[in-house]
Amino acid sequence: LFVAFEGGEGSGKTTQSRLLAIWLRDQGFDVVQTREPGSTKVGMRLRAILLDASHQGLSPRAEAMLYAADRAEHVEKVIRPALYRGSTVISDRYVDSSLAYQGAGRSLDRGEVERVNAWATGGLVPDLTVLIDLPPSVGLRRMASPADRIEAEPLEFHERVRREFRALAAAGPDRYFVVDGTLPQEEVSRLIQDRVREILPD
Ligand code: C5P
Ligand code: MG
Repeated sequence: LFVAFEGGEGSGKTTQSRLLAIWLRDQGFDVVQTREPGSTKVGMRLRAILLDASHQGLSPRAEAMLYAADRAEHVEKVIRPALYRGSTVISDRYVDSSLAYQGAGRSLDRGEVERVNAWATGGLVPDLTVLIDLPPSVGLRRMASPADRIEAEPLEFHERVRREFRALAAAGPDRYFVVDGTLPQEEVSRLIQDRVREILPD
């Protein structure tokens, strides 16, 4: 089982993926909790390059390729081996982040970003994508640490990202589950658990 969490800055993806992992482990599932970018040795270096605030103005295509490179390594070294062993994989961000940030955010063609990522992942698609939806103004206010290169983008960038996430979920197949990120944390996690229960093997 492969579950991806998607959403904008400060939406609670990291907290919710951790809570879901704990809940699944309590039921005896073997869970690998991972994130993008930066879950492999090379990925950590790519993450540093991507988030470095001095790399302002990195070309959108280069940015898209670096995220895709991180993802290719992540799929090959972490996600596929874990799925092959029968583990449940929970990833904090996956392909939809690139469609939203590099596609809508950087105004790259969505079809092209899709193709690059289909190639990078060998076509691996999550069984469930949880979108934690939140107005960017609320999410950005929640950020404690100094902004990385992308968090520092203007509000309208983050509005485009949010719109694209919502459009993907609205147009997409049943694998999307949209949850209101302004709800209390415990309620968000309960809604996610109810949805995940529907796809658990018994
Ligand atoms: O989720 P996390 O905050 O760790 O992601 C790191 C940064 O990378 C975020 O600021 C996010 O906006 C950005 N990002 C991106 N494109 C992606 C994935 C993440 O711009 N495909
Ligand atoms: Mg961030």
